[in-house]
Amino acid sequence: MKIATKLVNFESSPHDLFSPAVTPIYQTSTFVQPSATGGGSYDYSRSGNPTRAVLETQLARLEGASHAYSFASGMAAIGAITRLVAAGSEILAGDDLYGGTYRLLSQILPRQDVAVKYADTSDVDAVAAAIGPQTRLLLVETPSNPLLRVSDLAALAELAHAKGILLAVDSTFLTPYLQKPLELGADLVIHSATKYLSGHSDRTAGVVATKSKELAGELAFTQNAEGTALAPFDAWLLLRGIKTLAVRLDRQQANAQRIAEYLSRHPGLTAVSYPGLADHPGHDLHCRQARGAGAVISLETGSVEASAKLVEALQLFSITVSFGSVGSLASLPCRMSHASIPPEVRRARALPEDLVRLAIGIEDVDDLLADLDQALSRVLKPDVCQRSAPMIAQVGVREE
Ligand SMILES: *Cc1c(COP(=O)(O)O)cnc(C)c1O
Repeated sequence: MKIATKLVNFESSPHDLFSPAVTPIYQTSTFVQPSATGGGSYDYSRSGNPTRAVLETQLARLEGASHAYSFASGMAAIGAITRLVAAGSEILAGDDLYGGTYRLLSQILPRQDVAVKYADTSDVDAVAAAIGPQTRLLLVETPSNPLLRVSDLAALAELAHAKGILLAVDSTFLTPYLQKPLELGADLVIHSATKYLSGHSDRTAGVVATKSKELAGELAFTQNAEGTALAPFDAWLLLRGIKTLAVRLDRQQANAQRIAEYLSRHPGLTAVSYPGLADHPGHDLHCRQARGAGAVISLETGSVEASAKLVEALQLFSITVSFGSVGSLASLPCRMSHASIPPEVRRARALPEDLVRLAIGIEDVDDLLADLDQALSRVLKPDVCQRSAPMIAQVGVREE
């Protein structure tokens, strides 16, 4: 079965007496046990819930994992991963990660006596050099957020395993529809399911999946012990969102490719980054390890003021953190999703302050192109706008 079929074809209500076509929401904290000494299948929803179980079985199946766990948010999922690392050891993390992940690693883990080091994971030699005797876990995003750098997952898995450490991949940008880190050798795959897996900006959720029985046991223990599991209603919403993942992403990345090509030809922009562009430094590697480039594009205008004005001049892109929803969004990562990274660290990591992140939705691409075109010509310098005028004809803006 191909993944688009698996998304809608799954056992949605195992053991339910009435065979409902859609998974019921078991909105209950407790389950009556058959006797004082012997339990039924479930006893307490923090430990297990039938709606969540259907979701987790489906997530494991989509990732090619044996086990998956769903959490109240992506950060709760990443928090559970960090619990795999004992006090006194070290995590090696990518140096371009979601801002909230950086906050957890830099401000919470030191309190638990876990050290964190950072490396550019798109450079396998740099990672090899940074692994130390106490390193237990390598945490990678590819493409990274927000710079869209691509890391070689098969090479990193080989390196990690040669050194006896675990590789965890935050695959939020691509979902199992486009990339399967476990098949490339990763030990753990993480998602902020708030993004594409949900697809509608209507809940937060997180996922961890693995093929290892031992890691699964530890994750289940942490999820129960810390009470971070996804609630039944949110599990139900996520199950519904996942069904349309393939159609949404197909449309979103087709739109994103057209928009990235348009932006890359725009003379007023100083940089445009999208793994689907042939001139992206990670393009070939990305095409080898993923089935598509996703729908997030980064661009630079040369000044923070111009970037802020550009984002504000857009009419079809809402100014919103996050991404992965059906509607297009625009943001300034250094002021929004990555503001928790201190300015000096952003500078040291060459994270441009004028970076604009566009998350492309399922709208008609001609409307999105026309909106970008009007915003760019309003915001960028007049001489640049004149030069960019023929762009409108080139992209075929259409009246409706
Ligand atoms: C959003 C995001 C997270 C955090 O997920 P939440 O659901 O917001 O807690 C983690 N990693 C990446 C790559 C993200 O984009």
